Amino acid sequence: MKRAFRVDLKKLILALATCGVLLTSINTLFASYQVHKNAFIKDTLHANQVYATKLAQVTELFLQSVNSQLNVSAYHISKRLDDLPEVNRELERLLNQTNSFDSLVVVNPQGKIVAVKPDLNVLGKSISFAQLQKVKQQKPIVLDPFMSPAGNLMVSPTYPITSSEGEYMGFVAGGIYLQGKTILNRLLGRHHYEDGSYLYVVDGHSQILYHIDENRIGEKVYGNEVIEKVLEGHTGASEIVNSAGIQMIAGFAPIPMTGWGVVSQRPISSILNELGATHRTVIYSSIPFTILILALILVVGIQIAKPLTLLAKQLATFNNKQTDATRIFAWYFEAANLKHTLLQSNRSVRRVIKALDTDRKTDKLTSLHNRLSLEHWLGNAIRGEVGLSVLAIDIDHFKSINDVYGHSAGDCVLKELAALMMCKARSDDFICRAGGEEFLMFLPNIVLGEAVCIAERLRKQVFEHTMPQGIKITVSIGVSHWQGGTTTIEQTIELADKALYRAKQTGRNKSCYIDSV
Ligand code: GH3
Ligand code: MG
Ligand code: MG
Repeated sequence: MKRAFRVDLKKLILALATCGVLLTSINTLFASYQVHKNAFIKDTLHANQVYATKLAQVTELFLQSVNSQLNVSAYHISKRLDDLPEVNRELERLLNQTNSFDSLVVVNPQGKIVAVKPDLNVLGKSISFAQLQKVKQQKPIVLDPFMSPAGNLMVSPTYPITSSEGEYMGFVAGGIYLQGKTILNRLLGRHHYEDGSYLYVVDGHSQILYHIDENRIGEKVYGNEVIEKVLEGHTGASEIVNSAGIQMIAGFAPIPMTGWGVVSQRPISSILNELGATHRTVIYSSIPFTILILALILVVGIQIAKPLTLLAKQLATFNNKQTDATRIFAWYFEAANLKHTLLQSNRSVRRVIKALDTDRKTDKLTSLHNRLSLEHWLGNAIRGEVGLSVLAIDIDHFKSINDVYGHSAGDCVLKELAALMMCKARSDDFICRAGGEEFLMFLPNIVLGEAVCIAERLRKQVFEHTMPQGIKITVSIGVSHWQGGTTTIEQTIELADKALYRAKQTGRNKSCYIDSV
């Protein structure tokens, strides 16, 4: 029968353990990656919100300070509005005293610029209608970004000029450029991190006032949920996709004084890169330990499989006495149990085999050896080269005993004679039933003369013995001797048979011998 392919236990344990270790590692790494990713994102959301809030506060403080400076100047100018050189001096002083402004103007209530510092080509020009409408509120405001006559995009904090009687006399306005090396850049410009983080500021109309990419300053951004939220006055953080389609973690905070919003954001990919690097380090550092665990499992697996493999081998080579199950180290319960059962069944199988073998070599009626046993015994005897004598014994007229007393009585006689012969025999004598009422007796180390005496003694004992049912029998015996050499044991047995024939021919109830061929 074709043997199906079966993987052995050792490989099975190793494969199972390897899969277990690898799957557990992958699962742990995956879970840890997810947990860390969420934690990283949460931390970044928080950090960006804090950063945006901080910068919103700084900008607000700056604008408040600007407001105060303009307030002071507006007060001075209100006293000498008709003295233009003095107004110019005041503007000069403010411009030089702080580095908050790129330019300063004084505008009359009709929107006409009456003084300017530095000397730009805007004197006598009018501000836009929309700006005029705004400043007419007569309170400090920051004008929306606009293109200055000099071609610069700028924002402009303003402060109304009011006389001591409370009459509105126009306003003083500072110009702050949005592009180039401006105060806002110095204030908001932070180190542009290699991780792709950046910051931008929008005004109340979603127009970008500050951005690391200067080209985007002045651009209006629509449909950005973060900008919408911050312009509604909310502070917070969220995951968004920026205008370039990049997923971002954004924190945002409003600047209440101006209605502007600050947004600080970092690409998610930079977080994932950092996380990936961390996990690669984790994987590399866990490799030696994983190999150690696998090696340990391999050693234990081999130790688990070993007794089972040896027991299986033992079972397969049952008759091979070289493998002995008692020597197998069965160190755990199941293997020990298996070993115990194997040894027990081994013993009982050997017992059964021995019993069957004995049965096969034994004559059922007399319990003497049969011809099969004789062959086996003779083989050993010849190898031992020990001289031996042979007695061929035959019951005289046994047929008539059967006839007179019946076959079972004849059987009883055969058994009784066998017992008698056994009783008189030495331990190394070999007696077998050669067939019917004929027996062979082999006497090792007995010379012919001695054998003739033994035969005679036996014959007499039989003669004197009374068999069951009072039956009396006699035997005739032929004797021969084998001393090795050229004569075979078979020839010696034939000589004993011849001697027996002679005993029969010469009257029965006697022993005859033949010395040699
Ligand atoms: P002889 O003196 O010439 O040996 O005469 P004999 O009658 O003993 O010899 P023969 O060969 O004529 O007869 C042997 C008889 O032994 C015949 C047979 O029925 C009987 N016999 C053989 N085996 C058994 C047996 O197992 N049981 C019984 N009861 N009789 C057996
Ligand atoms: Mg006979
Ligand atoms: Mg006979």
